[in-house]
Amino acid sequence: METLEKYKNLLKEIGKLESATSLLAWDERTYIPESAHEARSQVLGKLSKMAFELSVSDEMGEYLEELTKEDVFQSLSEKDRASVYWVNHDYKRFKAIPPDLFEQYTIDRSKSEFVWEKAKAESNFEMFRPHLEKMVDYAKKFADIFGYEENPYDALLEDYEPGMTARELKEIIEPLRKELVSFLRRLLDEGEAPDTSFLTGNFPKEKQRELSIRALKAMHYDFKAGRLDVSAHPFTTKIGPSDVRITTRYIETELLPAFFGSMHEGGHGLYDQGIDKDLTWTGLDTGASMGIHESQSRLWENYVGRSRAFWQFFYPQLQEVFPEFESVPVEDFYRAVNKVEPSLIRVEADELTYNFHIMLRFELEEGLVNGRIEVKDLPELWDDAMNRYLGVTPPDDAHGVLQDVHWSGGMIGYFPSYMLGNLYAAQIFAAARREIPDLEGKIASGDLLTLREWLREKIHRFGRMYAPKEILEKATGEGPNPEYFLKYVREKFSDVYRL
Ligand code: ZN
Repeated sequence: METLEKYKNLLKEIGKLESATSLLAWDERTYIPESAHEARSQVLGKLSKMAFELSVSDEMGEYLEELTKEDVFQSLSEKDRASVYWVNHDYKRFKAIPPDLFEQYTIDRSKSEFVWEKAKAESNFEMFRPHLEKMVDYAKKFADIFGYEENPYDALLEDYEPGMTARELKEIIEPLRKELVSFLRRLLDEGEAPDTSFLTGNFPKEKQRELSIRALKAMHYDFKAGRLDVSAHPFTTKIGPSDVRITTRYIETELLPAFFGSMHEGGHGLYDQGIDKDLTWTGLDTGASMGIHESQSRLWENYVGRSRAFWQFFYPQLQEVFPEFESVPVEDFYRAVNKVEPSLIRVEADELTYNFHIMLRFELEEGLVNGRIEVKDLPELWDDAMNRYLGVTPPDDAHGVLQDVHWSGGMIGYFPSYMLGNLYAAQIFAAARREIPDLEGKIASGDLLTLREWLREKIHRFGRMYAPKEILEKATGEGPNPEYFLKYVREKFSDVYRL
């Protein structure tokens, strides 16, 4: 069919431009000489604009109109149908925003991000407040433009977790919150906290890098189709079908952040490396959603990387790189990497307390979008929620309401993906345990390939072909179910804390 061929060619053009953009953006965050940023951002702006213009072009509109006609659509192959469905999904959202409004938004957003950085450095919420008010106004406008049935927040969630709603999130969060709050209290009051003193010291960068590479190789992250570099904020980027790069960041006084950062990004990397090659440049060569992507990073970081089985296999490797650990028993080490501590900063939170950071952000941003909460009241509400959830009070706004970049960039509706990632990871890992005989034994003997292959078969290869809930159902036999996470944390931390 002629239209289908033209449509696919146009997607290839867009894909190639995006590939170039990704490479330049990767370079900008890793190796670019300091003085080159200004010119680079102009080049990036130009290329992104070209790709965006093609994706909302009249040409694209005509192809999609033809290909979404019921009889035409039904005659397509399953992959082509998925491509047309999701490309059309995004196209309609982009096209719904008037170009003038979008341009003004882009300008206001970059001002807002710039001011946020300063405001955070000075811990000055008042400086950031008018910009955040603008971003919340845009979110409300966009929600109205995109449309929703029940809650304007649903229209925003759609960008990150298609099909998820605020109502469903509340249904997930409420029982989870109750259980976790009481479990956490019991753990801290009655449990035996592990000694973590040996995790700080002097750990040279080169050796830490060696350790990260060993772990990534054990995970079967493909270094012939990827690399590990350094950046201020760790990330994963897919530059092309055989080029998925990850980064980490080394702190020489701490053993673990770079290591688990590498495993986390490695999990994202395995997902992107595992997407079927014939989905390249079809609009489907990404993850199913932010939440599903995060489930893969969390699965490798926590369900594998923080498991007893993994350290049975990997501890001798760590001792080879850092001989000072010969005097630390593996069981002590395992307990130390699973220390639970209510803290102020989301990105430093442990597995158990992490979801509280998300619950409070969801509570606040859903209130903002629905007009129940005003921006000016955020610092107070934030501190109050931190107390309710975690029993800690931020000393200032830099360690409180100003800590995350997301809101400054207009990303309202993004945070729940992180929590969903944790919950999905528990559910997916439980399914893997049911289906792979003696999974723990395999991990303990260094066989991580069986698990990677299972994930590739059940999730990775499909890219964005299916909606998040569909892929979860296909892989685990049911929709989102937080019980798996609860069961996992109760069992694991009762053991680690010797309850
Ligand atoms: Zn991640």
